[in-house]
Order: sequence, then structure tokens, then C-alpha cells
Amino acid sequence: MIFVSKKYTFMCLYLCALLLSTLALSSSSGIQKAHDTLSTLLKNRNTDMQHYIDQAAAFAREQKTVSSGHDWWHTYRVWQMAKKIHEHEGGNILVIELAALLHGIDNHKFHNGDLLVGAKTAQAFLESIHVPKDIIESVYDIVATCSFKGAADTSEMKTLEGNIVQDADRLDAMGAMGIARTFAYAGYKNHAMYDPEKPYKQHASFEEYSKNDGSAINHFYEKLLVLKDRLNTKTARAIAEKRHAYMEEFLEQFYGEWEATR
Ligand code: ADP
Repeated sequence: MIFVSKKYTFMCLYLCALLLSTLALSSSSGIQKAHDTLSTLLKNRNTDMQHYIDQAAAFAREQKTVSSGHDWWHTYRVWQMAKKIHEHEGGNILVIELAALLHGIDNHKFHNGDLLVGAKTAQAFLESIHVPKDIIESVYDIVATCSFKGAADTSEMKTLEGNIVQDADRLDAMGAMGIARTFAYAGYKNHAMYDPEKPYKQHASFEEYSKNDGSAINHFYEKLLVLKDRLNTKTARAIAEKRHAYMEEFLEQFYGEWEATR
């Protein structure tokens, strides 16, 4: 009896093992199939993503620019910085890269103050290369709202991606780059480099800020030195520390040289 039951148990075990190995084989080929499909999807998605980004970079690069700090190389720096911030903060990388690449096209300053002109151009371009609709909407929102509108404006970006692109743009208005761009802009607008008889006064609105024709040095007080407290992400705030200190040091040296004390 014991012998029969042992035999029976062995048989059961054998059948179970056979069943399990068949299941394992078929499910492993199923898993393999799903894995392959996912890889193909991801591969296509990455190829599409890269295609969109390459096209946007080429489009941004071919835009006519003016010598005011709104050139391709500003876009390039914002793009690189946005990717760097994304590494620490996360977010949708496709939205971030496209918005960084398109954030500066058709600046309102050169289109009679039309704040949406850049966003509309970005939208039309992204539609022309068949970027998915939800991505276009996110990029549109960022391009439409990321610009600095004076110290009196405290409006906030709606998304993490927007926070990242705005931070990258703001960091490029700080430090050595911010100083260089400020003097380039002042030269382009024929504004004074500095006029001690026309000190900076706080602008109460975006309208006042955008109409101002103050000196390059005044611009430090209306924007550059304000930016460190107007950043959205921890990563950007850390990067901003050195840039802010550098601008303060520059001003000290500038005033010293102005009065021949340095
Ligand atoms: P954003 O990218 O936030 O829209 P702006 O278009 O306001 O920036 O400015 C582009 C560059 O020119 C920035 O570096 C900015 O600090 C500088 N800039 C803007 N307005 C002035 C000004 N009135 N005087 C000097 N520099 C300026």
C-alpha cells in the first residue's frame, strides 16, 4: 500500500513538473514577446522623441535673431540647463526639451508686445511635425508664460516642466551670462550703460517694466538680482547661488571703478 502510494506520489510529482515546465516555457515566450513589443515601442518612441527634438533644435537655430541676448546660443544654454535640472527634478523630458528649444522664438518685445506670438509659432511648428496634441498643449502653456514680467509679477508656472524651463531661462539671465546679455541688450536699445543721476525705481506693473528705458545697471535691480528669489526648483536655487554672488561682486567692482576707488 505504502509502495503504491509512493509510486502514485512520484507520478503526480512528475506530471506537475511537466505541466509547470510547459507553462513556464509558454509564459516565458509570452513574456519575451511582450518584452520585444515594449522594446519596439520604446525604441520607436525614442526615435520619434529624438526626431521631434532634432527638428525643434533646427527650427530654433534657423530663426532670425537680434543682438539682444535672444539668439540661438541663449536657447542652446537654456536647453542644456533644462536637461540638467530635469536630471534632478524629473518631469516629462520631451515637453521640457521642446519648450526649452522653443521658449524664445518670436519674443513679444519684437512683436508689439503680443505675449502669445511665440507660443502660437511654437504650436504651428509642432503641429507641422506631428507632435502629439497633449505635448503641444503643454509646450504652448510654457512658451506663453515663462517670460519674466517685472519684479511686481508673481504669477507661477502651472507644471513641473514649466518650472524647470522657466528656471533654466532665469539662470541664463544671471551670472556672467546675465551680465553679458544685459549689456548686449542695452547696447542694442541704445540705453546708457550706467547713469548715476537716473537711479533705479521699482516698477509697479509689467507695462511699466516693459516700457522702461533705464540703464544696463538699473536692469540688475529690476531683474537680475531679483531672480534668485524667483526660482522654482531646489536644483536651480543651488546653481543660482554662485551666479548671484558673482553679479554682486561685479557691481561692487563696477561702482569702484566708476569712482576710481578700485
Ligand atoms: P526673458 O527671456 O525672461 O523674456 P527678456 O526678453 O526680458 O528675458 O530679456 C532678454 C535678455 O535681455 C535678458 O538677459 C534680460 O535680462 C536682458 N534685458 C531685458 N530687458 C532689459 C533692459 N531693459 N536692459 C538691459 N537688459 C535687459
